[in-house]
Amino acid sequence: MAITGKNLSLYFHVPFCSSICPYCHFYKIFYKPEMGIKYLQAVKNHIDRVKSILKNSNIVSIYFGGGTPSLLEVEIVEKILKLINPPQKIEITIEINPEDYSIDKIKAYKQLGINRVSLGIQSFDDRLLKILKRKHSAKKAKDAILDIYRCGIENISIDLMYDILHQDLASFKKTIDEIKNLKITHISLYNLTFEKETLFYKNRKTLKKFVPDEKESLKLLNEAVLEFEKLGFKRYEISAFAKKGFESFHNVGYWKARSFLGFGPSAFSYFENKRFRNIKNFQKYVDALALKKTYINFEEFLKYPDNINELLAINLRLVDGIDILEFEKEIGKIPKKTIKILKNSEFINFHKNRIKLNKKGLLFYDTLASDII
Ligand code: SF4
Repeated sequence: MAITGKNLSLYFHVPFCSSICPYCHFYKIFYKPEMGIKYLQAVKNHIDRVKSILKNSNIVSIYFGGGTPSLLEVEIVEKILKLINPPQKIEITIEINPEDYSIDKIKAYKQLGINRVSLGIQSFDDRLLKILKRKHSAKKAKDAILDIYRCGIENISIDLMYDILHQDLASFKKTIDEIKNLKITHISLYNLTFEKETLFYKNRKTLKKFVPDEKESLKLLNEAVLEFEKLGFKRYEISAFAKKGFESFHNVGYWKARSFLGFGPSAFSYFENKRFRNIKNFQKYVDALALKKTYINFEEFLKYPDNINELLAINLRLVDGIDILEFEKEIGKIPKKTIKILKNSEFINFHKNRIKLNKKGLLFYDTLASDII
């Protein structure tokens, strides 16, 4: 691969979990302590394979996601960061589950320069947490937020979910109400979907009748959008809300076509117009790197105009939309056919050179994206 000297983000997929949630479709396996050392060795080998890229790029953000990266011993996270030697003060995020942190761990993260935490909360309703088979309670989640803040990490993001089985507006209102009193800077809001290879998917015929219907689902979403805004969280991406200045720099990079390299099994990378994915099996990923074989098992190189259409569709997820002139200068010419689709779309508003999703577009983004791509 040629060296670009461009901004680069790094993603570490840590595929370990202490229990498996029935709705989760991410690549994950049950954690055993000895796996941490194996993971570190594989990541070391991987970093070695891409060292010329790392050396000649500006690393601008790092994200430890999963899985449950907080299961890793702090020393392993420390060693990974030492191998990277990131510049000071870049955004470094780690995902934490409320049931498996300790104050010492958080303090150590802070020492390592980790300055953002993403907590898998999902709901502040214990009844719903049980349905999702989460191991934490609402109280544990609130304690975690407070502890993290007290340890000096002030940029705290939480994941919240709607369309959970048996969830109603009253329960969701209570969850949103809890946010008022918590030190949170960012919310990622997802709806529960029945993804293939999950337990919920297997049992979907029985379970679907307990999921809020379309009308109820829209009520939940509208409630969240309205209340989050009142609490000072601006919707800056379809499913992301942030207090001013706390938008996720790392995630905005995905939506704006910044290059990123993914480490760990199943992690995606995007580099020089090529998207590729690491082997989606922990042991095979470890072995491939140890034997100096390829660790990639999927790659795709999109040519014009497909590359532009895809990047445009992803970028449109950002609520502020796209300045067409800037986009064309930085990324490439938007095909005439796509401009026509955008102009005729009921999901898009044009303001001079700027295009952005309108109210309907925010709801039906997937339809628009498939029209463009
Ligand atoms: S949702 Fe998080 S904790 Fe649950 S199985 Fe998936 S990665 Fe693990």
